[in-house]
Amino acid sequence: MGKPTGFLEFARREPGYRSGEERVHDWRAVERPPMAAEMQEQAARCMDCGVPFCHGCGCPLGNVIPEWNDRVYRGRWREALDLLLETNPFPEFTGRICPALCEGSCVLGLNREPVAIRSIELAIIERGFAEGWMTPQPPSERRRERVAVIGSGPAGLAAAQALNRRGFSVTVFDAARRPGGILRYGIPEFKLEKSVVARRVSLMEAEGVRFENGVVAGEDVSIKFLQDRFHAICLAGGAREPRDLQVPGRELRGIRFAMDYLRQQNCRLDGERIPDAEQIRAEGKRVVVIGGGDTGADCLGTALRQGAASVLQIEILPEPPPTRSPDTPWPAWPLQRRDSSSHKEGGTRRWGISPKEFLGRDGGVVALRAVEVTWKIGPNGRPAMEERPGSGFEVPAELILLAMGFVGPRKGRILDDLGVQRDSRGNVTKDANNMTSVPGVFAAGDMARGASLVVRAMADGLATAGGMERYLDAVEAAHPAVGARAMVARKHVGLNVAAVGAAEEGER
Ligand SMILES: Cc1cc2nc3c(=O)[nH]c(=O)nc-3n(C[C@H](O)[C@H](O)[C@H](O)COP(=O)(O)OP(=O)(O)OC[C@H]3O[C@@H](n4cnc5c(N)ncnc54)[C@H](O)[C@@H]3O)c2cc1C
Ligand code: SF4
Repeated sequence: MGKPTGFLEFARREPGYRSGEERVHDWRAVERPPMAAEMQEQAARCMDCGVPFCHGCGCPLGNVIPEWNDRVYRGRWREALDLLLETNPFPEFTGRICPALCEGSCVLGLNREPVAIRSIELAIIERGFAEGWMTPQPPSERRRERVAVIGSGPAGLAAAQALNRRGFSVTVFDAARRPGGILRYGIPEFKLEKSVVARRVSLMEAEGVRFENGVVAGEDVSIKFLQDRFHAICLAGGAREPRDLQVPGRELRGIRFAMDYLRQQNCRLDGERIPDAEQIRAEGKRVVVIGGGDTGADCLGTALRQGAASVLQIEILPEPPPTRSPDTPWPAWPLQRRDSSSHKEGGTRRWGISPKEFLGRDGGVVALRAVEVTWKIGPNGRPAMEERPGSGFEVPAELILLAMGFVGPRKGRILDDLGVQRDSRGNVTKDANNMTSVPGVFAAGDMARGASLVVRAMADGLATAGGMERYLDAVEAAHPAVGARAMVARKHVGLNVAAVGAAEEGER
């Protein structure tokens, strides 16, 4: 424990944000970088509790938070970095955009503000980059097996990095032009600058990971090609099928999915030319964002930067309490109202609003008709919604963004062609070793757990890499003469072993 009285002496302080008036005119990161001296003081607030709930039940990666807090307080940044990297493959992402589940279960949070864990984490990793400590870590020896990772979001990147460092030859395929998944194409630049993603991808390339972008697995490369060429496959394609809102007027022009809108802005900032007919822009428009979550908040911040005339964000659920709800006692993740940086920049929010109809003129949307709703516990003990009589209203809008979450993996050939089992929501099911119903094919991230968080996708990627290594070790150990690839092909997926051999010959 760095300083036994630290939590009594110092109040929680965070790096904070650039002023709203300034930041809304640019796309740069809204959050200020953490200052080393301030973070050392903040680390001194950690009490090094006997049972550190932050790492035991808060952080999905199991980050050893009290240990690195101690090192930061003592100015031993290099040791803090080594400890952090033992569990967290990409602290530069979580340090910026993790909701900090750890802070929800920090013991200090019982009667004071929790330790500013996320900001300290960011300070450690950025110190690592600034000092030149973040060098490529290629494996000392290469194994003979090749692994394909489909999808380069946080789950795929985490799996790829771990497998490559264990000596496997890893190729990451992604349909998008650049690696990163939602980190690259969903989350706006002002929350996560894309240079941060590119910096990590460069490190991984230097370690030997191969990225094949602009390739749709299952279409541009067939399943047979992948199974012939790779000893194991990790599916990390995310869960981006958006929830739609089927109310009258849905067909009108100007009603778009949030992810299409956010993706386009990220592409625009990357210099991609968007054809005029496909442009989704908020400039001068009255915008309604349907959905009160993070994606909706990202749309709000993006629309403000594009010069929207007004932005209203609506949510069907009631407004959460301002502080931890008694239904989610410590150390659970607290249900409470959260205002993102975008909410502090402008726009209006309303809760308990149910959309009823889109109104249009000449084929384009001009307004949303909605009604207020209240929530009560129904006879079955579950919350039930009731419309408030006479509360109907109309909001003028030329752009409506649907940000109501995701219902499962996007439709595409890969899952059908592979024939992997899926649950009732369409998510890929897997066993305790993270293998799908198709031997040698594994799954990680949102594609298996449903839409979630970056930190969980990363934790999944690491766990899946471990499962793949165990599997390949077992295959190799059982059949050393034949080799893992041929055994996977012959025993399990029914591939033509001759074709596998030919592929290997071709590569030599
Ligand atoms: C707008 C938005 C903002 C968010 N903000 C946050 C946040 O601030 N903090 C947070 O913790 N979480 C946030 N999330 C959630 C988080 O981004 C996701 O949970 C996480 O990215 C899931 O990671 P993943 O690797 O499973 O999938 P994804 O990041 O979705 O990546 C999947 C990748 O697979 C590729 N792919 C899919 N199918 C194929 C195929 N057949 N062939 C080739 N490539 C394929 C896709 O192109 C994509 O690049 C946000 C989500 C959204 C939508
Ligand atoms: S990854 Fe997220 S939950 Fe884990 S320590 Fe960092 S901020 Fe906390």
